[in-house]
Amino acid sequence: MTSNGAHLLSNARPVSAATSFPDVNVFSVDVEEWYQVGAFENTLGRGDWSGLESRVEHQCHAILALLDDAKVKGTFFCLGWVAERHPLLISAIHKQGHELACHGMAHERIFRFTKDEFRQDVHRAKALIEDASGASVRGYRAPSFSLTADIWWAYDVLAEAGFSYSSSLYPLKTDHYGMPDAPRKPFWPVGEGRILEVPMTVCNLFGRALPASGGGYFRLLPYMLGKYLFQKGREQSGVPAIFYMHPWEIDPGQPYIGEAPWLSRFRHYTGQKALPGKLSALCGTSQWAPLHDCIVKPAYAGLEA
Ligand SMILES: [Zn+2]
Repeated sequence: MTSNGAHLLSNARPVSAATSFPDVNVFSVDVEEWYQVGAFENTLGRGDWSGLESRVEHQCHAILALLDDAKVKGTFFCLGWVAERHPLLISAIHKQGHELACHGMAHERIFRFTKDEFRQDVHRAKALIEDASGASVRGYRAPSFSLTADIWWAYDVLAEAGFSYSSSLYPLKTDHYGMPDAPRKPFWPVGEGRILEVPMTVCNLFGRALPASGGGYFRLLPYMLGKYLFQKGREQSGVPAIFYMHPWEIDPGQPYIGEAPWLSRFRHYTGQKALPGKLSALCGTSQWAPLHDCIVKPAYAGLEA
């Protein structure tokens, strides 16, 4: 955290105390291809992408079937890259009653952009998702939770581009991302009512902050522990907890990148076969609603209360 970052966070405003959130959780999916991941970025370059097998359609349809069985409506943060190549998939997600949101154009971390480049990236991605579906896109999630204190201007860009919320911060420290000083509850980073930041869910256990939003941890940890962290994180914050996953996490048939470092392969491939069963079980533990409905709407309504 830079001193600049500390100053920015001191301007952050919590949501109004009058806000009441429903007793539900959020199931979110970051829609990207199996090769558009940090784990392979030093093995498969962007120049290789066009020659690799696309698997996102059938992976997403498997998730859609699972959510349909469980009667869960979620939020899908899609890459513009995917929307451009698979518009029917984007439209199918919308038709099944899920919320469509934006995950940037091609999974570039925000801090690699200038402000202008970031503006172009989110405008293009948002337009592609909206054109494919006819839906309004209001939410944004930074690739690899890369919204850092040094690029707080990203919130101004998102607000100007017509987003009403972002879900781009993990309020703890991991080896790849995280902003431990960030609030754990939804907050207004650049002025009340301008854009809402909805941080990922964290659980305090034995004096430590642990990631509780699913992701790779839910796949790698035993089910009972992943579920416990998620539920405990929800209880501690009093706000709907945010679960997230990627389409490639339930596809054991995807190509195996043997040249990637051992730890990257372990994190990417372990636990894929068991994941659908764990997801179905988790879906049965609570009620669920799209992020915009259960957190963003009440937060904006709380401003008027
Ligand atoms: Zn991603």
